[in-house]
Amino acid sequence: MAIAQHGLRALLPEGVEVLEGPGCPVCVTPTSDLDRAVKLALGGAIVCTFGDMTRVPGTRVTLAGARAQGADVRVVLSAADAVEVARQNPGRKVVFFAVGFETTAPGTAAVLLDSPPQNLCVLASHKLIPPALSALLSGPPGPIAGFLAPGHVSVVIGARAYRPVAERYGVPIVVAGFEPLDILYAIALVLRQLWEGRAEVENAYGRAVTEEGNLRAQDLLARAFEVADAAWRGIGTIPGSGLRLREELAAHDAGQVLPVEAEEGEERPAGCRCADVLLARAVPSDCPLFRAVCTPLSPVGPCMVGTEGACHVWYRYGGRPEL
Ligand code: SF4
Repeated sequence: MAIAQHGLRALLPEGVEVLEGPGCPVCVTPTSDLDRAVKLALGGAIVCTFGDMTRVPGTRVTLAGARAQGADVRVVLSAADAVEVARQNPGRKVVFFAVGFETTAPGTAAVLLDSPPQNLCVLASHKLIPPALSALLSGPPGPIAGFLAPGHVSVVIGARAYRPVAERYGVPIVVAGFEPLDILYAIALVLRQLWEGRAEVENAYGRAVTEEGNLRAQDLLARAFEVADAAWRGIGTIPGSGLRLREELAAHDAGQVLPVEAEEGEERPAGCRCADVLLARAVPSDCPLFRAVCTPLSPVGPCMVGTEGACHVWYRYGGRPEL
């Protein structure tokens, strides 16, 4: 979003493209998890989640649509807010639909490890970034020559977390901040590595990101979750890319406390190219539905829903601006 908002693509030399990968938490949450949340809400549980998730199309209905049918769906800003909802409603099951990457997962972990109310359970759909980078590189050779690693995720996992990916696939990975100069500096470091034939992890966001990351947050994650395979919307299952609650927290695991079957979900609305966009194989304007049918007010696919979604960003700020 920062790249588009500040028109940075116009400053890049010919032949250098910056594309958005699967970095929007709303976009990558699989339909099956969303359908489970909808079923739980329609079944009488209070479902708490972040605002954008309520507008993502499920197989039949969005969470906002379920709310219009009478379900109790609440927007929260954090897992701690869901705890408060659970405390205020002791006679009801409260489900926190937990999405997001290593940025939001420690907050969920902290709540789970701090004696949460008995009536609170978590539908965990957290995702991990390094396995997604591996997945992007493990298919047939594509156009990806290097990565800008997300600064906020890197604050938690540290720059060192990307080293196995850089070494295995021989790509430069540079941790980037979100200010225009941070991003341009990180792009310059990627280009310098390519020019010099190096494939290393460099940190261009040293004022926030350390080599080892936030050890306390990593400890919380390790105590609350174990790494598991996870489905990514439109992409499929990526090995070791998700987090499931540890067995000792089963009493708060929505999958065990309130098991529901997911729909046989249609992951891709007809014509939607979100999967190609997330895999850096297309830009949003390559999609025939972009602007014509799919808009932020009437999103067809998940990439148009959240303000961080690639299609939403492309709609709002454009692609490569002319100077
Ligand atoms: S413009 Fe809409 S339909 Fe097309 S890829 Fe993006 S989200 Fe999907």
